Amino acid sequence: MKQYNIALLRGDGIGPEIVDSAVRVLKAVGEKYSLAFTFTPYLIGGAAIDACGEPLPKTTVEGCLAADSVLLGAVGGPKWDNLAGNLRPEKALLGIREAMGLFTNLRPAKLYPALKDECPLRADIVENGFDIMIVRELTGGIYFGERGYREGKYGQEAFDTEAYSRMEIERIARVAFETARKRRKKLVSIDKANVLETSRLWRKTVHELAAEYPDVELSDMLVDNAAMQLVRNPSQFDVIVTSNMFGDILSDEASQITGSIGMLPSASLSGGSRGLYEPIHGSAPDIAGQNKANPIATVLSAAMMLLYAFNESTAANAIVAAVDKVLNEGYRTADLARGGASALTTVEMTDKIIERL
Ligand code: NAD
Repeated sequence: MKQYNIALLRGDGIGPEIVDSAVRVLKAVGEKYSLAFTFTPYLIGGAAIDACGEPLPKTTVEGCLAADSVLLGAVGGPKWDNLAGNLRPEKALLGIREAMGLFTNLRPAKLYPALKDECPLRADIVENGFDIMIVRELTGGIYFGERGYREGKYGQEAFDTEAYSRMEIERIARVAFETARKRRKKLVSIDKANVLETSRLWRKTVHELAAEYPDVELSDMLVDNAAMQLVRNPSQFDVIVTSNMFGDILSDEASQITGSIGMLPSASLSGGSRGLYEPIHGSAPDIAGQNKANPIATVLSAAMMLLYAFNESTAANAIVAAVDKVLNEGYRTADLARGGASALTTVEMTDKIIERL
């Protein structure tokens, strides 16, 4: 029996509830496919501040580095909103990403046919749903480049610098090609090569790497066009790869067109199998502790872990299929229930998913 050690960062707000749901689903899928998981909880965020005065204790970092993979709920809440910047729960997110060397962010944006009414786009545009994976570079580019103030032509000016090395582009592009291989084998590389030098190096490097992936169909798209295409015809995309800033903006656009924040998982990856898996939503303090949260984003984050960290595609697909089934059968948590339809609790939704594995 294969054995995987998972560090659990439950965090704050709905974090503990949704992580516990994902753990139950992992245990159930493990029984079915002969996978043994051990789960070790560590403190993070507000819970860590309350217990030991800092949002990311050393034991948490060490535990995450020693684990095979990390599952995170969410951090933050009004209780800690007035603390100084470096003591805030959110600081722990940047800290753990840095400590684990997570340079890739994978964010799927999937519109389930059963949830078409949640989508803000016109019905004919999303008739067949869409299923996009955005691969965003996470530790380079303009967010990390040289910045400052200087005297310019019109007096004081501020500047930020975008820099990308061939190595940084190649390693994120490799993740994207590998990801496309596990999906529909279509990769769109998004840049601004008509203007930016970094984009021209980006495009050249991605195309050089394409020779190693003849089974993946590669195309380029300018970022302004990509922003339009995402709302005009989102179903044309399979995998998208792009830089830190473009990915930041486009992944938020893509998540909004799904219309359901409680459904979207994410993964942040390092070069090896190590990674951190978490829902894209926050700690939802308004519904915390009420057994109302939608656990699906976290359950699907666990499925991403099975696929990307452990290469257990059969078990991962079983979870995704169970979620599809539950939705197709009309089950909804409160965030998705419309027109007086009855809503399942977090625990009941988790039960339904487990029953359908
Ligand atoms: P949020 O995502 O927590 O909540 C936004 C809205 O969506 C709320 O009405 C909430 O109830 C709802 N919602 C979110 N997830 C849901 C789920 N799974 N099921 C049902 N409803 C859900 O964003 P926010 O309100 O802006 O932030 C709340 C706290 O979370 C803040 O402290 C913020 O800093 C933090 N935050 C943390 C992360 C993270 O841990 N990665 C990300 C974003 C925000």
